[in-house]
This record gives sequence, C-alpha cells and structure tokens, in this order.
Amino acid sequence: MSKKKQLDQIATDILTQNVCPDLAKNAIQLVRGDGATDADIVFIGEAPGKKEDETGQPFMGAAGKLLGSMLETIDITRDDVYITNIVKYRPPNNRDPKPAEKAAFLPFLIRELEVIDPKVVVTLGRHSMEYFLPDAKIGEVHGLPQEIVFGSKTITFVPLYHPAYALYNGAKRETLAEDFLKLKHYM
Ligand code: URA
Repeated sequence: MSKKKQLDQIATDILTQNVCPDLAKNAIQLVRGDGATDADIVFIGEAPGKKEDETGQPFMGAAGKLLGSMLETIDITRDDVYITNIVKYRPPNNRDPKPAEKAAFLPFLIRELEVIDPKVVVTLGRHSMEYFLPDAKIGEVHGLPQEIVFGSKTITFVPLYHPAYALYNGAKRETLAEDFLKLKHYM
C-alpha cells in the first residue's frame, strides 16, 4: 500500500474508532499530518489551534508562520518535511491537551512515524517531547540531538521549543532560531 493510502487509513481509523469523542464534538475537523510522505524529517507539534481546525492542516496560524520562517533559515520549505501533531483535534479554547488525550492519539502518531520512516524526528514543545524523553526538561535538552531507538531503527531525535512559546518570548525565539540551525546538518 502507498504511504498516502496508509496515512489515509490512519485518519479513517481515528474517525471510526471515535478517538477522543469530547474533543471531536467541539472541533470542526480532524487535523491530519501534512507534507512530504517520504520526508527525512518529521516535526511533531502539540494540537491544532483555531486556524488549523478551520483549515484541516497543521501549523497554519501564527506559530505555523514562525515555523515556516525558521525552515527558510535552513533553506527548506514545509513541502520538504512532514508536519503533524500529537493530538489531532483542537482542544476547546486551545487549552493544553490532557494526558488521556495524548495517550489516546499516541498509537496513531506512532503508526504515522512508521509510515513516514524519517531519519530525524523534531518535537515542538514538551507535549510531543514527553513520549520520546519522558523525564527530560525542555529547558535542559532543547536543541540537543540524541540517537533513540524507535521500533527496529535508530533515529535522531531533536527536541525544540514550541514556536508558539517563542512567539511571545523574544529570548526563546532566538534560542529556537539557534536550535533550528543545528537541523541544517541533517538536511
Ligand atoms: N500548534 C501546534 O502545536 N500545532 C498546530 O498545528 C498549530 C499550533
């Protein structure tokens, strides 16, 4: 089956298994991952916001614009990478996703990563980082590439600050920009 068909099947399974019905009923739509299905690098955010809920695509609002401009600094566009979220429905009023919601979507995120099969996984913010590095503090590990075992493979994992956090904090924005430059090495 093609990667696109496998990703379609994951989205179908989320809908038919009625994952997080409370989130689903308040959201406009499921926000699937987006980008190159053969990407070497996958970015994982937290959960859709208003713009993403309206458009059905991840990182379409202000945080997405910042992500796009950071990608430009390493000479790539969002079409060159694959971008997804751990939670795939917008939480009401953009509240943080609950542990049970992240746990409910985790098997689908893992399937998504198995399909894309990237060399590098970049998490944006602590919510997506915690599955890969459960005991880490983002303030201590951001921008530090690590080799981790994922399934039967070793991949490079890079935790970064979430662009939304960097939007409201100038110092974090600089840190995120510096951390991003380290990704160029993997392009
Ligand atoms: N923040 C996220 O984590 N994901 C999005 O898709 C948009 C904003």
